[in-house]
Amino acid sequence: MRTEESARVWTIQALLQWTTRFFESKGIEGARLDGELLLANALGWKRIDLYARFDHVPTGNALARFREMVRARGLQRIPSKYLTGESEFYSLPLQVTPAVLIPRPETELLVERALALLAKDQEALVADLGTGSGAIAIAVATHRPLARLVATDVSAEALAVARANAEHHGVSGRIEFRQGDWFAALEAGTCFDAVLSNPPYVAAPDLERAMPEVRDHEPRAALDGGPDGLSCLRVLIGGAPPWLKPGGWLVLEIGAGQAQGVLELAKETEAYGAMQVTPDYQGIPRIASMQVKGVLPGA
Ligand code: GLN
Repeated sequence: MRTEESARVWTIQALLQWTTRFFESKGIEGARLDGELLLANALGWKRIDLYARFDHVPTGNALARFREMVRARGLQRIPSKYLTGESEFYSLPLQVTPAVLIPRPETELLVERALALLAKDQEALVADLGTGSGAIAIAVATHRPLARLVATDVSAEALAVARANAEHHGVSGRIEFRQGDWFAALEAGTCFDAVLSNPPYVAAPDLERAMPEVRDHEPRAALDGGPDGLSCLRVLIGGAPPWLKPGGWLVLEIGAGQAQGVLELAKETEAYGAMQVTPDYQGIPRIASMQVKGVLPGA
């Protein structure tokens, strides 16, 4: 075995095969893709280049860096995107660090929903509360050139990542970053056309059962939604109305099984009229939108 392994020529093809099997043996989903992402990153190539040069034999620093990342991915279950420091959201490359949640494809549906509510030629003021990597705010700013945004996060480290991403995409001039807890981060008296958020919504007991990548490496503050997962959603739904212009929308990402609870919370406020829930790619109700009424009750 040993002689066989050491006699082997470690081409890109051989490295990918070995790594895929290693990751699979550790129960990692998407083993092949992760191997490709890590190897491409170690070489400073695009993933597609690996296939064009299957017989290339990586050496030196690139090989050492790849080995180190494979170990961290396989043995410590660190998400590959934290190892490469790169992710993609709404076709935009984003820097990610363990201070921010890795943007999920489901959250792109939140952006789509927001873009559907904001006309392209409209000047709008939009909030992204708990922005993390800045994914939502940057995607909206990129696709709505007249929109201005306020992006908040309780974590200064997260805001630094979001700011760097906004600068990279040339939208930092239209996004104001503010540190703080939900609405407390906002400037008093501001009124938004839309308030967007992908808040923490995983019920604490479910988080303990989550994959080690999520449970042990992603920021808990971005995931833990309290005992029933609704703690932050409650704050957002209850608190948003005075921050919205008449007819403005609150658009939230929610967890599986939370749609009914979320709609009930919205009804209890008596502040919202139209409400919609949009399913994700798996048919799970994922994005809840609620429109604040023209005139607030009691106003
Ligand atoms: N979708 C994420 C997960 O399942 C949760 C994101 C969140 O809490 N906002 O890990």
